[in-house]
Amino acid sequence: VSTFDITKIRNDFPILNQTINSQTLTYLDSGATTQKPQCVIDTTAQFYAAQNANVHRGRHTLSEQATYRYEQVRDKAAEFFGINSNEIVWTKGATEAINLVANGLKNQIKASDTIIITPIEHHANIVPWQVLSQQTGAKLAILPLNDDATFDIPACCEFIKQHKPKLLAISQASNALGNITNLAPLIASAKAVGALVLVDGAQGAMHLKANLSTLNCDFYVFSAHKMLGPTGLGGLYGRYEQLNALTPYQTGGEMIQTVTLTHSTYRDAPAKFESGTPNIAGVLGFGAALEYINALNHPALIEYEQTLFNYAANRLQQIDGITLFSDLKHNIGTLCFNYKDEHPYDLATLLDGYGVALRSGHHCTQPLMAHLGVNGTLRASLAFYNNHTDVDNFIDALQKCIALLD
Ligand code: PMP
Repeated sequence: VSTFDITKIRNDFPILNQTINSQTLTYLDSGATTQKPQCVIDTTAQFYAAQNANVHRGRHTLSEQATYRYEQVRDKAAEFFGINSNEIVWTKGATEAINLVANGLKNQIKASDTIIITPIEHHANIVPWQVLSQQTGAKLAILPLNDDATFDIPACCEFIKQHKPKLLAISQASNALGNITNLAPLIASAKAVGALVLVDGAQGAMHLKANLSTLNCDFYVFSAHKMLGPTGLGGLYGRYEQLNALTPYQTGGEMIQTVTLTHSTYRDAPAKFESGTPNIAGVLGFGAALEYINALNHPALIEYEQTLFNYAANRLQQIDGITLFSDLKHNIGTLCFNYKDEHPYDLATLLDGYGVALRSGHHCTQPLMAHLGVNGTLRASLAFYNNHTDVDNFIDALQKCIALLD
């Protein structure tokens, strides 16, 4: 793709240019966390080197500048997702964002209510709803899933219509499989019965670039570290009236309006949910990540990623004994697979010896693994900074590992 200069892009990611176990690094674990371009590293370092001060507190120059930059990133994130700045809350990740919503809904959910989750969810989008259902008595219902881990959309819409949930929690893309969920009809069905919808965008946010004002969900969570940004940072979008209606999950400084020794009043969202000193350097680094993503040619990037993914899927499928679990037609670039009945940990360890970094295990999706009838899998997750050499290194190494095992 002429408008997508992969050599230039790879040079922006210094970590890629190194050896691991004396082999060229082949990083295929972007589903766990993406690598960081130099601008993100520089922005974070620059904050500590020359700009460090707390936000929303001081009247001195450094503090005012830190506050200004910090709030500017909220504006950037809001623009990225097509929403208003006061609808974004900074959290430490997608996990905290889902917990914030589940805890915040405690007073709105009744024993007669139903919450729908799905079998493909990351544990972060399962356990908080189990806890909420235990605390409130609400029923947890599970959206049906085909044997191959795809959704039968008309059947799911009918399920939602019949169960009339108070809330539907569903991911935009599966972290284990990379499968992209066809959200629009599911959200429309949930909205038709008056449900709130939370979308877990941890995997989808960067690849799918959702416009949240048209997606029509009430809550959307994301992790900055899976979008080229620093670790320890994520965010929650909430439709303003729904967001402001949540009970705060943590209390303390910054989120209050007035405090006496016996009583406090709270500020409105988003401040209400941001008690304590936030991850300022992380937020600024994420601002640089968003600028980097915005400067990429998105259609060219998607085309490049898709071509690379198809190449990797084809090469993998040519190896005898491979079982592939991912939906290859609707995928963000993840190959979930096993080789015969070999333990995924053994293969991942052998692959590491060849400098190939990929994930093995249950990927925090034990219910999905149970559905697929396996304890775990291998997962190669591609990003736009991978190239054909990465795929070739991976397949060649896999073939050598298989030869050792067979
Ligand atoms: N949901 C999905 C789909 C994920 O992939 C992840 C991260 N693996 C999470 C939630 C949790 O994100 P974090 O660990 O950044 O809180």
